[in-house]
Amino acid sequence: MKNLQFFNAKLLSKYNVSGPRYTSYPTALEFTEKFDNDELNKAIKNSPNNGLSLYVHIPFCHRLCYYCGCNKVVTRQQGKTETYLAFLEKEIRSRAEYFKDYTIKQMHWGGGTPTFLSYQQISHLVSLLKANFNLADDAEISIEVDPREIELEMADHLRSVGFNRISIGVQDIDPKVQKAINREQSTDFICALIERAKDVGFKSINIDLIYGLPFQSVASFSKTLDKVKEMDPHRISLFSYAHLPSRFSSQRKLRDEWLPNVEQKFALMKHSIETLCSFGYEFIGMDHFAKPDDELAVAQREGVLHRNFQGYTTLGECDLLGLGVSSISAIGNAYSQNKKELKAYYQAVDAAGHAVEKGLTLNQDDLIRGAVIHQLMCNLYLDKEQINDQYNIDFDSYFTDEIQQLKTFIDDDLLVNTNQYIKIDQAGRLLVRNICMSFDAYMKAQVSQQRFSRVI
Ligand code: SF4
Repeated sequence: MKNLQFFNAKLLSKYNVSGPRYTSYPTALEFTEKFDNDELNKAIKNSPNNGLSLYVHIPFCHRLCYYCGCNKVVTRQQGKTETYLAFLEKEIRSRAEYFKDYTIKQMHWGGGTPTFLSYQQISHLVSLLKANFNLADDAEISIEVDPREIELEMADHLRSVGFNRISIGVQDIDPKVQKAINREQSTDFICALIERAKDVGFKSINIDLIYGLPFQSVASFSKTLDKVKEMDPHRISLFSYAHLPSRFSSQRKLRDEWLPNVEQKFALMKHSIETLCSFGYEFIGMDHFAKPDDELAVAQREGVLHRNFQGYTTLGECDLLGLGVSSISAIGNAYSQNKKELKAYYQAVDAAGHAVEKGLTLNQDDLIRGAVIHQLMCNLYLDKEQINDQYNIDFDSYFTDEIQQLKTFIDDDLLVNTNQYIKIDQAGRLLVRNICMSFDAYMKAQVSQQRFSRVI
């Protein structure tokens, strides 16, 4: 990236308020229990799409990382997985009936820790999914891997059953940081795992990093970034640690005085972005990096990047079916979420073959605002004419108040608003969430704002 002009400390601190990451609009906080499985089935029936992205949630983890905000069950009892897989199988079989006309273009296993499962369980679950859904030959099949409890042979096994993308949680290689977050792991093993994954033919390797963790400094995190260069992954996700101890009790183990303050966190972010760009990665969206020839980088350059609950993707026009406890689906004009507690999930699947707990059927206004936010989040650009044609509105009349709210960003040279388009400047890139909040009709409820992490 030639011009890293998005680091204006004054502006970043001016706009450093809580805000959603907009993996969906409306966000999951707006889901209600009025939504039920009949509404989801109606949405499946009416959806114009026939491409499907599958998300499979495996909730188990061997140990608790204190920073974690995921839905997981920490246990040493391997036996728990058998029960879980039995109910997951029931859910898969009953859901698959409704997706006979779909082709699976993408499948992702997340958690928790998908590699908590044994080789044999992984093979069985892959076969089950292949038997019940139409998996495209060239589908992207990805999995999140926790490098602490596996052997190198796991890479061979995953590749042999069809996974072609792998994502590894690195976070930070500094032993002091790892001890504080209760995630001690071997950097040598991670390097060997990446080598092995490349050797056995994984098409894409992603690593996750987190800044804002206890005891991190620019000097210490530089060592992590240098190691990442050696690892040479195709993609990197760089997340800002969101300290929300009132929501996630394990985060209370991370004392406030251990955490970088706002200025230090800003310096960490700036240094990380500059360093990764200097290594030749392209900055994707708000928090991803990819090699210039990676599909994400190409899609961003061509203005066709998309975003779903798993983050940025090249696949648009795909419905998303979530399977397993707490998983989220986005189908046609509806969102739905499964029950979050294992026991409730088991009971619901046992009784009805599904575990829908809540969701939302989008109204026309949600759809219009969702399309606007999606365009801005993914491509930092909005074609007003396209929205007008698609939704039969006049953009500037429909969004009179919202355009007024954009004035502050225009005055700060963060975006340009013309009769034809809205374009977010490089200087506004890190503040895209704030800009999108102007179009969020639910943001007016102040209560919701407290539930989100700060933008930086
Ligand atoms: S960060 Fe990952 S491995 Fe750690 S507790 Fe959370 S889900 Fe489990």
